Amino acid sequence: MNKLVEEDLKYIWHPCSQMKDYETLPPIVIDHGKGSYLYDVDGNEYIDIISSWWCNLLGHCNPVINAAVKEQLDKLEHVIFANLSHEPAIKLCQELVKVLPPGLSKFNFMDNGSSAVECALKMAFQYQAQIGQTKRTRFMCLSGGYHGETIGALSVGSMDLYAKIYKPMLMDTIHIQAPDCYRCPYGLQRDDCQCECFEYAEKNFTHYSKVTAAIIVEPLLQGSAGMRIYPPLYLKKLRKLCDSAGVLLIVDEIATGFGRTGKMFACDYAQISPDLMCVSKGLTGGYMPMSISITTKKIYDAFYADYSEGKAFMHSHTYSGNPLGCSAALAVQKILREDKILEKAQPMAKYLNNKIRERIAEHKNVGEIRHIGLINAIEIVADKVDKKPFAPQLRIGYQIYKTALKNGLLLRPLGDILYFNPPLNIDQGTLDKAVEKCAAAMEAVLS
Ligand SMILES: *Cc1c(COP(=O)(O)O)cnc(C)c1O
Repeated sequence: MNKLVEEDLKYIWHPCSQMKDYETLPPIVIDHGKGSYLYDVDGNEYIDIISSWWCNLLGHCNPVINAAVKEQLDKLEHVIFANLSHEPAIKLCQELVKVLPPGLSKFNFMDNGSSAVECALKMAFQYQAQIGQTKRTRFMCLSGGYHGETIGALSVGSMDLYAKIYKPMLMDTIHIQAPDCYRCPYGLQRDDCQCECFEYAEKNFTHYSKVTAAIIVEPLLQGSAGMRIYPPLYLKKLRKLCDSAGVLLIVDEIATGFGRTGKMFACDYAQISPDLMCVSKGLTGGYMPMSISITTKKIYDAFYADYSEGKAFMHSHTYSGNPLGCSAALAVQKILREDKILEKAQPMAKYLNNKIRERIAEHKNVGEIRHIGLINAIEIVADKVDKKPFAPQLRIGYQIYKTALKNGLLLRPLGDILYFNPPLNIDQGTLDKAVEKCAAAMEAVLS
């Protein structure tokens, strides 16, 4: 075994991993990255088709982002963000306002996605209290939702995989049955339904809206639930219902923001503006841990008062507004704009979906191929007709992951759902190779 691997196993507790699995699949020590590719210390090449946990938006070691961070590094690495400020943060807000849904104009900086969710929840709670709505102390969320893994974020998540053991520690939130278009309880199709499943939301609003501060959702795409995709109409209906009930709408665009779904934000498909939006992941192109909770002037104004009134939002993180993160995020905005990344990604998204369908759709274990933007998910099932999954103990997705990895493709499925979520500027040749390697791994494991 490579000496570095031995030392890794001696010290490092890897995220979201059963460390015993590393006995048979030791960590791969990455030496460098370029574009959509990673290279390990032994010189092996891997296609990073999952953008390193969905954050690498424009390729590894993107020359423009590299240059921006290097330039900032020699000027100012970090500074306290209470009272003090700096140009990269100010410029970043100016740029983001131009692309965000209308009305979002106040920016609160944090250093990871979960923290942005915590901040949004606290802000919503405090807002309601300060406008006199003191009974609104609860939160609603969707089943299958994922918003991060700190205690507050877990409380508004619905995935037992991450939350079950901690239930006694969590807030008592209201879980609404989410759309599940592949296994639609009404037997309808996502392309032409009227979101009949929205009645689950309506029922919960009837019972609980008066005690609810806010509802949080992943817009259009429930990522960790297995890249579940639902129609924009659901969001439109939700915006209306929230408005009539006085419930704030928090949209978690951490996974979907910055072009992942084909538009700048998933909200844009529904042409809605949330009261609070969380962004992270693609924000810095996957360079720096940074996130922002963005809100409206209306909410901001409910905190704006003489100090003695005690209405300030007393929430801070040491690395709030880190200048290196801001400089990376500014470079990302520049590239998206100047290189017309979203426009160019459109034909590529179509190409990838066609390619996957041609090569994989007919496979006996492929239940559904769903896509939005460049994101494509392949749901592996034991039986196509009744959509029955494989027994979880078989760990089919994990077997395919290991096989693909040996063959130079980094997949990391969600259970038995394989997915592609590549950098937006990936090239056609790399996509061809990735689909081929994925199909080969599926055949090896499922035959
Ligand atoms: C990744 C993710 C988070 C959590 O972000 P972290 O930076 O991992 O804490 C929250 N919400 C969504 C939708 C995510 O995809």
